[in-house]
Amino acid sequence: LKKPNIVLLGAGYGGMITAARLSKKVGHDANITLVNKHDYHYQTTWLHEPAAGTLSADRTRMPIDSVLDLNKINFVKDEVVEIKREEKKVVLKQGELEYDYLVVGLGSEAETFGVPGVHEYAYCKWTVNGVREVKEHIEYQFAKYNNLSEKKDELLTFIVAGAGFTGIEFIGELSERVPELCKTYDIPQEKVKMYVIEAAPTALPGFDPELVEYAMNLLESRGVEFKINCPIKEVTEAGVILASGDEIKAETVVWATGVRGSSIIEKSGFEAMRGRIKVEPDLRAPGHEDVFVIGDCALIINEEINRPYPPTAQIAMQMAETCASNIKALMDGGSLQSFTPEIKGTVASLGGKEAIGVVGSKKLFGSTANFMKKMIDNRYLFLLGGPGLVLKRGKNPM
Ligand code: FAD
Ligand code: NAD
Repeated sequence: LKKPNIVLLGAGYGGMITAARLSKKVGHDANITLVNKHDYHYQTTWLHEPAAGTLSADRTRMPIDSVLDLNKINFVKDEVVEIKREEKKVVLKQGELEYDYLVVGLGSEAETFGVPGVHEYAYCKWTVNGVREVKEHIEYQFAKYNNLSEKKDELLTFIVAGAGFTGIEFIGELSERVPELCKTYDIPQEKVKMYVIEAAPTALPGFDPELVEYAMNLLESRGVEFKINCPIKEVTEAGVILASGDEIKAETVVWATGVRGSSIIEKSGFEAMRGRIKVEPDLRAPGHEDVFVIGDCALIINEEINRPYPPTAQIAMQMAETCASNIKALMDGGSLQSFTPEIKGTVASLGGKEAIGVVGSKKLFGSTANFMKKMIDNRYLFLLGGPGLVLKRGKNPM
């Protein structure tokens, strides 16, 4: 009997947990292949830290062969170019793979909402290589400043586009690091300008207002200026242009206005909304019995409010558990489970020992929230690689 080919695309939260669970559930009864651009896995949810330089980029990534059993999983380091659904093939930059079951977990890309200049002039890649560039660029601005005969304010003006969780977590880290950068490079702190520019009438729209106020007060006390109700309409070489027509000059614009799914989805002809496939309850793509879609590439609706769930690592990991069980069920001729997310809460770091969050019905502030955030980061490592991985790569929660 021919063993089925299970091909997993993307080694993010969804892909890694699916691979780990499948290798246990189906063992050598199937050929499991995992394809990823790099030979390492990174934790996207930690990337605001290396972006601002408060954590080394290497702490957010790990070699794939150090966490997955590559006796049971065939790992292919390559880039996915297209999925040929009719032929049940995946086209890679350097080859092709045939599948019986496919899992799409390619993550997300920056959403620009059509604002011109984002890809040309803003930092918008939330990947290991993307955040390395942001960190180096920020340090270079500080290093350059004192060597200019005519000081330019825009050199030390940092703009964050979007006050969602990514924008807030990044400015939390940056505002925490600025005093140290000023000291290192002999620059008076008042020369540094940090703006968070948000289109909606509030920062962190939809989040608990008391926690939003706590976060804004804290960040303002570190010198951050919020511009709320203030959509950015263009990014230029010189800075940003607001919907009001005003311009803010800045040599650093960090883009965090939300995400869309992988461009591979649309390129492969799947029906999608902002690059995300509205999946069936069992996580398969509509009309495709052999294609599962998980993580940021999948769209599921929160029936209570009739709106999509936000794309999070929390949901990607839970989808991966259901996806692995459902592939096993398909192989055994069993019945498939429906996926229901269990939202445990949301915790966001604000730099240093500060954070905010809601866990269950409890609101958390300051060091309690910061402790919880680190426990959440460690919990993922535990789910992926057990206590050994937490000891090796985890964060100290204190
Ligand atoms: P990812 O984890 O992004 O992984 C996708 C993988 O696919 C990557 O390894 C990538 O290299 C690979 N890939 C992409 N394209 C290709 C290709 N063409 N070929 C081969 N490989 C490819 N969510 C939370 O729940 N809690 C948080 O605290 C939180 N914090 C965040 C902080 C930041 C700064 C950011 C940016 C996001 C945060 N999120 C958080 C959201 C969370 O990171 C995503 O929802 C989650 O990473 C989605 O998981 P995924 O498996 O779908 O994709
Ligand atoms: P988001 O969609 O949550 O927030 C983007 C923000 O940008 C919104 O407030 C939006 O109003 C604003 N915006 C959009 N266009 C704009 C414009 N032209 N000018 C100014 N502002 C504009 O996106 P995100 O923060 O990138 O987060 C992506 C996903 O990752 C979300 O699902 C989020 O929940 C998740 N995430 C979670 C955490 C956490 O739990 N700690 C941290 C980071 C990200």
